[in-house]
Amino acid sequence: MVAFQGDVSEHVLAMERALGGGGSAVEVRRAGIVPRCNGIVLPGGESTTIAKHLARTGVGDEIRAAARSGVPLMATCAGLIVISQEIVEETRFLPLGLLDVRVVRNAFGSQSESFEANLQVEGFNSPYRAVFIRAPAIVGWDAEVDVLSRIEEIAVAVRGENVMGLAFHPELTGDLRFHEIFLDMI
Ligand code: GLN
Repeated sequence: MVAFQGDVSEHVLAMERALGGGGSAVEVRRAGIVPRCNGIVLPGGESTTIAKHLARTGVGDEIRAAARSGVPLMATCAGLIVISQEIVEETRFLPLGLLDVRVVRNAFGSQSESFEANLQVEGFNSPYRAVFIRAPAIVGWDAEVDVLSRIEEIAVAVRGENVMGLAFHPELTGDLRFHEIFLDMI
């Protein structure tokens, strides 16, 4: 669990619940830990801040190496921005390029910067209630990327081979179905 900033404690709790004692979530704030993890989670928060810490500590390079060698990665909201291929009109940092998607930050407009929506999700047999907080939109993706859910033409949940990207906050509801997908990937 990358833990420099953002919605870390909620993510740890949700993951521990999903694990049900079959593993643990470790908070990562320095280099040397990621290479020993079986999966990596990048929570939401502020993407510019998270990207700065990833670069400063070398944890970003470790995540890149792990993800490229096939270690599962779940990135939510700001985390999704950080691992994307391209951020539209963003020059403050370069994303890690681990998921071949193009994102727009804060894409859902000022009036509804935060909202909830019932999503239809590929493989789920009932709607998923998702919490969006100043969420990014996935506006482009490679043919290899599966879109699991969308709001009109915008993708909000996607999956590459070992990388899942969510525009919303799966740790804020009791619904652990995305955490379960991630644990299955591990
Ligand atoms: N808007 C934030 C950013 O650009 C992301 C918001 C979030 O993670 N809830 O980093």
